Amino acid sequence: MSEALQSLALGRRPEGRTLITASWVVGHTDGSHRLLQNGEVVFENGEILFVGHRFSGEVARRIDFGNALISPGLIDLDALSDLDTTILGIDNHPGWAKGRVWPRSYVEAGPYEMYSQEELAFQKRFAFGQLLLNGITTAAPIASLFYREWGETVAEFDAAADAAGELGLRVYLSPAYRSGGMVLEKPGQIVPIFDEERGFQGLKDAISYIERQTGRHGDLVRGMLAPDRVETSTLGLLQRTDAAARDLGVKFRLHMAQGAMEVDTVRMLHGSTAPVWLAKAGLLSDRMIAPHATNATGEDLALYAENGVSIVHCPLVSGRGGSTLNSFSACRKRGINIAMGTDTTPADMLMNLLVGLITCRINDGAPDRVTSADLFDAATIGGARALGRPDLGHLSPGARADIAVFDLDDEIMAPSIDPITTLVTGGSGKVTSAVFVDGRVSMLDRKLAGIDMRKARVQAQAQYDRLIAKYPERSWNNPAVSEIFSPSYPIEVDTHG
Ligand SMILES: [Zn+2]
Repeated sequence: MSEALQSLALGRRPEGRTLITASWVVGHTDGSHRLLQNGEVVFENGEILFVGHRFSGEVARRIDFGNALISPGLIDLDALSDLDTTILGIDNHPGWAKGRVWPRSYVEAGPYEMYSQEELAFQKRFAFGQLLLNGITTAAPIASLFYREWGETVAEFDAAADAAGELGLRVYLSPAYRSGGMVLEKPGQIVPIFDEERGFQGLKDAISYIERQTGRHGDLVRGMLAPDRVETSTLGLLQRTDAAARDLGVKFRLHMAQGAMEVDTVRMLHGSTAPVWLAKAGLLSDRMIAPHATNATGEDLALYAENGVSIVHCPLVSGRGGSTLNSFSACRKRGINIAMGTDTTPADMLMNLLVGLITCRINDGAPDRVTSADLFDAATIGGARALGRPDLGHLSPGARADIAVFDLDDEIMAPSIDPITTLVTGGSGKVTSAVFVDGRVSMLDRKLAGIDMRKARVQAQAQYDRLIAKYPERSWNNPAVSEIFSPSYPIEVDTHG
């Protein structure tokens, strides 16, 4: 590390103007990114002052990152914030038999919180650390309500806001709420149950949370409403959510057009797809951010385009589960704004960009309708547009200094001629060497302020082991853990010890 680099203090904004340079800088002109060879970025007090060549003003320090790409920080609008459990189901099917839907017996016994408030607070801090390690500077967290008594809690989100402030991550927060849930009546038969009042109470709590937390930690914390998913929301809840989003000047995220169970449930309840149902109610607008659109019909996508709904594309988790957005390029062509999300572990946006490129080309049946730059745009400009933040997602004078530095010389990287193609096809956030958020040093040389990730990883494993031990009582007919999660190969234990 150079002396100038060493002088940067984790968790602090460097005093005065900082000039950073590298073999490549992602600049921005007339609404689109540019590549500046041996470019320079100057920032001060959280704001970018200059992007270009040969800055003529005075600076307090000059840092050369060498053969690297200085990039806008990545924006993740479906950022995993609990311990990922989708990986438990990867080779264990069907989901309803593997503890992924509440059996009636569990509902009747009274669902309970699987984690303590301390564990929930820890999970978010740990997740935020993983996001920063991967060059993600803005995150809208997502977690599974399946492990909760009902919705998320204000207490854990107060802790999340503080974690974001201490680690230095830009976040869009509020506890997720819902008016219903899915229950397994008998093998393979899943039905929705509703308690609308509970949803209204959750929305009320989320509104007061946003009013109280917005702007905290130097404006790193802002609000986003998060009704959990469309099939467990009543029309009343979504109408009130949209009205609250308008009043608060925030967006709301709603998972829809994303799964076969959801599509079937919504058709049974409302007689159409979710986007058609909500369009009729006048609830589709640019206030809505809608992961994942993998089960969207042509009509659904046309309604998204017409009403300014943003999609959040999470190709890794979708593809791993056997579905894809069909297709990324076709949605772009329709004029739909696409943001990106990680939504699962690893919280690696560059990996998602690679999977997004691959799945798009498979869906298109052609290699020439999508480029690495299109995916990179979604993870930067697309995310900023979905949030209504023209000051994020690009490096330009006046924008916030949210910056990720990706090392192009890392041993795992192939020789390159174009940094964006190299990073997207390289498919790994492990090459992230520094992250600035609002001008603050949030990650440097894989170290973070506010958390020791090695220790945290041990703690996360212990929590995960405890969670898995609780699976039988929440699975149909209460099978043993070894039956729910069969090993990839037969396990041989050491019987001599
Ligand atoms: Zn999602």
